[in-house]
Amino acid sequence: MRAISAGGVAPLPTQQPLEQGFWNAAVPSLCVVPFQQHTGSRLHSLVKPGELVREGMVVAESDSRLAVPIHAPIPGRVATVGQTTLLDGTTSGAIAIELDGEFDRLGKNPEPRPWRDLSPEALLEVIRSAGVVCGPRASVPAHMHLRRSRQSHPPVLMLDVAETEPYMSADAEIVAEDGAGIVEGLEIIAAILGTDRIHAAVAGGFSRAHRAIRAARGDVAIALHRLPHRYPANSEYHLRRVVGLRGGADDAVDLVVVSPSTVEAIRDAVLYGKPQIDRVIAVGGGAVQRPAHIRVRLGTSIAEVLQECGGLLEEPARIIAGGTLTGRLVQNINAPVTKTMSAIVALTEAEVRGGEEEPCIGCGGCVRACPVSINPSLLNDLILDGRHREAEAAGVFDCTECGLCAHVCPSRIPLVDRIRDGKRSLSGGHS
Ligand code: SF4
Ligand code: SF4
Repeated sequence: MRAISAGGVAPLPTQQPLEQGFWNAAVPSLCVVPFQQHTGSRLHSLVKPGELVREGMVVAESDSRLAVPIHAPIPGRVATVGQTTLLDGTTSGAIAIELDGEFDRLGKNPEPRPWRDLSPEALLEVIRSAGVVCGPRASVPAHMHLRRSRQSHPPVLMLDVAETEPYMSADAEIVAEDGAGIVEGLEIIAAILGTDRIHAAVAGGFSRAHRAIRAARGDVAIALHRLPHRYPANSEYHLRRVVGLRGGADDAVDLVVVSPSTVEAIRDAVLYGKPQIDRVIAVGGGAVQRPAHIRVRLGTSIAEVLQECGGLLEEPARIIAGGTLTGRLVQNINAPVTKTMSAIVALTEAEVRGGEEEPCIGCGGCVRACPVSINPSLLNDLILDGRHREAEAAGVFDCTECGLCAHVCPSRIPLVDRIRDGKRSLSGGHS
């Protein structure tokens, strides 16, 4: 592993402001739930076409304890069990459910379940059964993330509200709207991990989230840190320094980083038995009529999410799922929302730096920007030449796909896409 430098850029490119808070999007008439919801998931359907399903019912399960089940986001009738095309054009097994029948959960406010007497193993099984997947970055089942981390005691737990990439603001909104719920979720996770070392890092610009945690933490000892609004602010390197882990013996201490959306899903699973069937998404970009945050059912199409925000003002030049630096280009606007999708951004022509890719001018901007001290320009050349083993030796797997190199490149070279291609080739076609 190469040394990690400060790297990063500040300030970031401007983004269109989004409305504060969030509302519940209209329940879609059709939900398409892909089996592919996290790295390595292998599921099989438990339902058949024509079958009626209840809201929150398990519809697909895996034989492996490493994978999580998926649940019906809406009550209804199974229309198909087959394939769907995901946002990047790849396919996945999927179940399509047409809305029908009654809601078990919508508008209901069940009594919270007492959880403090449950063992860590029992809590982890509740979380697995609820299908909770960490996101937006990690894309691993939450019970695996927390179980693996329990091997080093006592770990440090970190709530990450320092996602500063443009449009990745849904997590900060979750905290701002329900600080008390997030604090209780952190208590649950701390009990699983067997630690009382709880921290929260909040980037500048998320003042409402900062105030919400400060007001809600009460007797819970949460060390609250305010981070500068630069990108990236929440790399593991930065967060370890924030909590005082600075090498040497500290390297043996595990830092368990959780996002507010993951904490919320864990809290809802443990307290209310609610499976992960919805999530809060930031919807923005100059082509969107009403940029805002909304809570949507998983399986809702990206097109319907945009429609919920008033539709499009103009034909977008590009739609991105995720932030504008590291997000994925949407190639299928009818693709469904998945558990780790936290933003949908529809950019106008003026917002997309137009023009064709041009040759590298050797300015070195990408090298200076890279926070993990690798040479993106060199990697680009090696991958284009098919010299993947040399790219591996040059550190292609150290790349965190933060997107800074492509962002600063005056020649508009899609450096991150190239690096992803290189990783995929070295991994035998699997990214
Ligand atoms: S995307 Fe990878 S190569 Fe580019 S700046 Fe980030 S870590 Fe460095
Ligand atoms: S920023 Fe772009 S043009 Fe400059 S050295 Fe890197 S790849 Fe070449």
